[in-house]
Amino acid sequence: MKTIGLIGGMSWESTAVYYANLNRMARAAYGGLASADILLRSVNFDEIVALQKAGRWDRAAAVLADAAAKLEKAGADCVLICTNTMHKVADEVEAALSVPLLHIIDETALALKAAGKRKPLLLATRYTMEDGFYHRRFATHGLEIATPDEAGRARAHAIIFDELCAGHVLDGSRADLTALIETAKDQGCDSVILGCTEICLSLDPNKTPLPGFDSTAIHCRAAARFAFPNELRLSA
Ligand code: GLU
Repeated sequence: MKTIGLIGGMSWESTAVYYANLNRMARAAYGGLASADILLRSVNFDEIVALQKAGRWDRAAAVLADAAAKLEKAGADCVLICTNTMHKVADEVEAALSVPLLHIIDETALALKAAGKRKPLLLATRYTMEDGFYHRRFATHGLEIATPDEAGRARAHAIIFDELCAGHVLDGSRADLTALIETAKDQGCDSVILGCTEICLSLDPNKTPLPGFDSTAIHCRAAARFAFPNELRLSA
């Protein structure tokens, strides 16, 4: 089994899901009381959010690159950034590593392509939906993505930061996210990307109005394939 390095804490609500998912996958792969070999560098999310709001992505990149280098030095065989939004600085983080960075956008695009999806809706933070870094990376896989309208993007962003990252999972917000997916379905989308690692706390990707692709679960499966590739009991 290889060692999985996680850059987490953004927010810790979703990092806890990564930790549980990876350990469940190790148990499924190896049986018995097996658990995953994990190194976690968990940052203070308040500091990262302040840098996001100030547009100081260069500083945020330096914090995450330092975290990645420390994980590698401590023995990580691969590194995951446990948030979609901070993949805006994935290139800088990758440059600090000689072990692989498992890229959440690439893994999500590959999962959609394998399922034959062509027109996904992206639900995520404003940064992820509006900046362009996510769209550009998807385009390298030959896929285009749709996003909600301005009001929908504002609502999704608020649900993520004001509620899910703070540990509040509200039925009314689940209904609002579901309504955004219904609208996209009416507009011809064939799938929905849960493109923020906390959205799985609110939405079950198997129960969404469009087939759901949960970036957290997809990212964890990529790590499991990397860390225990020869274990036949691992369900991909
Ligand atoms: N975890 C979220 C994501 O996947 C948002 C938190 C952040 O801003 O990093 O984008």
